[in-house]
Amino acid sequence: MRYERELEYAIDAVRNASQLCQQVQKNLISSDAIQKGDRSPVTIADLGSQAVITLGLWEAFPGEPLVGEEDSEPLRSNADIKEKVQSLVSQFAYDLTESVLFEAIDYGVRPTDSKERFWTLDPIDGTKGFLRGDQYAIALALIENGEVVMGVLGCPNLPLDSKHPEKGAGCLFYAARGTGAWMEPLSGEGKQRVQVDGITDPAQARFCESVESAHASHDVHAEISRWMGISQPPFRIDSQCKYASVARGDASIYFRLPRSSSYREKIWDHAAGVIIVTEAGGRVSDFSGQPLDFSRGRKLEKNVGLLATNGTLHEQTLEAIARVMKAG
Ligand code: AMP
Ligand code: MG
Repeated sequence: MRYERELEYAIDAVRNASQLCQQVQKNLISSDAIQKGDRSPVTIADLGSQAVITLGLWEAFPGEPLVGEEDSEPLRSNADIKEKVQSLVSQFAYDLTESVLFEAIDYGVRPTDSKERFWTLDPIDGTKGFLRGDQYAIALALIENGEVVMGVLGCPNLPLDSKHPEKGAGCLFYAARGTGAWMEPLSGEGKQRVQVDGITDPAQARFCESVESAHASHDVHAEISRWMGISQPPFRIDSQCKYASVARGDASIYFRLPRSSSYREKIWDHAAGVIIVTEAGGRVSDFSGQPLDFSRGRKLEKNVGLLATNGTLHEQTLEAIARVMKAG
């Protein structure tokens, strides 16, 4: 199978990072999180997750570039955070020195040629959800020629079966180009293929969007869904768990229009989710129907608005978007 070795590494790395994040979320105290320069939160788990995944990459694919969300600044400015991250990461990396830890985290912010093959990582997507005790995801993907070719999503709090949450939580999703999308429990074996739903009538469809109203224009999403005749309330869930939800048919559509017209999405917030939805039979584009272009640096500079669907509803949704955007 293509990308077999890449998948093997990525699944193992995301499993380890998920374990680290679960451990932190269970015992979270307020000093485990601080604000970054852009006022967004970062926790010892975001930093630890990025280190564990990078250290794994160095072993499996030495020299391959990685574009990651975090850098080591929070560790350099806060000794308590540094010690906690070092102790967390040491569980997965024997004999970890402080300088190797810094180097591993900063590996994600080195200049990278986005036209080349590279990895991209969101060590915790949905940090706000993580801090609330809700959903979050560890998202690792591989990009070649500006397109995602493989992606893995660890979703530690996502129910294995959304209709039967009593069956437990913790899902791992993965896909490589041409191989379909798969899900297995984070805790062990038992992979199953995931597929988007077959809904063709918007009246039967459910759409998902961010919990955080600062991250997306809920009002515009509501208007588009009214145009389409969607009657179900939005399914609000943090992180790329939205892509996972579309991929396995818990929802048919994912809308994401930023609140500010100048905001551009970060590549690591989408890469893994895009290939998982696509390989599950769905479609992903921006609000004008263009595919997402991952060759423009750390952001999706060429794309505004994000739409993931089960495929069958895609054109119809784009039409509704065009009408609503035109009506302004
Ligand atoms: P979600 O859980 O869907 O709300 O998405 C979480 C992601 O939203 C984070 O990883 C951030 O990179 C991203 N984010 C932060 N600020 C904004 C913003 N103003 N608009 C859109 N996305 C944002
Ligand atoms: Mg994120």
